[in-house]
Amino acid sequence: MKEELIYLDNNSTTPIDPRVLEVIMPFFTTSYGNASSNHIAGVEANRAVKAAREKVANLIGSDPGEVIFTSGATEAINTAIKGVAEQYKEKGSHIVSVATEHPAVLDACQSIESKGIEVTYLPVDQYGLVDLQDLGQSIRQDTVLVSVMFVNNETGVIQPIQEIAEQAHQKGALFMTDATQAVGKMPLNVREMDIDIMAFSGHKFYGPKGIGGLYLRSKRPFKVKLEALIHGGGHERGVRSGTLNVPGIVGLGAAAEVALEEMEADKDRIGMLRDQLEQAFLSMPDTLLNGHPTERLYNTSNICFKGADADAIIAGLENIAVSNGSACSSTKVEPSHVLTTMGLRETEAYSSLRFSLGRFSNHSDIEKCIKEVSMKVDNLRGMI
Ligand SMILES: *Cc1c(COP(=O)(O)O)cnc(C)c1O
Repeated sequence: MKEELIYLDNNSTTPIDPRVLEVIMPFFTTSYGNASSNHIAGVEANRAVKAAREKVANLIGSDPGEVIFTSGATEAINTAIKGVAEQYKEKGSHIVSVATEHPAVLDACQSIESKGIEVTYLPVDQYGLVDLQDLGQSIRQDTVLVSVMFVNNETGVIQPIQEIAEQAHQKGALFMTDATQAVGKMPLNVREMDIDIMAFSGHKFYGPKGIGGLYLRSKRPFKVKLEALIHGGGHERGVRSGTLNVPGIVGLGAAAEVALEEMEADKDRIGMLRDQLEQAFLSMPDTLLNGHPTERLYNTSNICFKGADADAIIAGLENIAVSNGSACSSTKVEPSHVLTTMGLRETEAYSSLRFSLGRFSNHSDIEKCIKEVSMKVDNLRGMI
């Protein structure tokens, strides 16, 4: 990657924080033990895993024993949705989710729909928020799980998680959240917010790729049980067998520790840069903000440049990385399901760009981005 790349696509992945990289390196070279071995190398690895588990638990407000390490959020989400549906099928076979969820949730739901589970996909309003009344009415006697994402990856919109959890619990359903865009970026506490199940991922908050986690409530007022997807060896309380990815786990722990230290400062600095970028674009004619003006994560701005095709804008930007929607579905030539669910017309969705800033974004990146994108948009609109 060229050094001068202006990287404004932090919601699809983040670079690893140098402090995290430094902590990981010895676990590839000198400290390579299997955390399940009982000799000295294994004990050492196991100790590092234990310390990392504590750091992750500290970040999300859980007990260390409630954290299950997985290969990432996609695996955590699949484990939870499929595992809960299987475990609680005597109680019921209905799940409530939202149409603007990440494909990991939507596709996992679709997969169990073919096995006889019914899924209700709630709509959202023009700002991307779910209606709490709609939600309450959708939860039935046979609803086993309500799954609503914390922060939307395309728009940054933040759902009222605590209220949603309350509604689910009132009706006796479990509450799960895909918090992949929230963990490490904003204060979050599973206990205070009454979350039963939560998925997150290292590479979305400056940790390594290929490591993530699943929080499963294990005490008061109840313990979440689930049927495992992957069997063999009984690692991670039998929920996720397989030799532990020690370097990844250590990196996730280090990323969690750095996140706690930097969160406040990141929020202020990144938020100011994001606002500068957003205001510049919204002062152009025929531009719209996609998402809620305030109920939104400080790093994300999704803008519709009417009359300019997003792919054409991106193609014209040599050294700027931005996204035309979710990277996970970028091979499909379909408009963003998040934006169309919010009521955008297809042409508006195709004209929308997501800017997602991160810890290593700086003022000069933002100025160059404003200049180049607005020039490109003017060009495409045939103004010069
Ligand atoms: C990136 C992302 C995922 C998938 O995470 P992986 O760790 O890459 O599998 C799931 N949900 C959301 C909201 C995301 O942004």
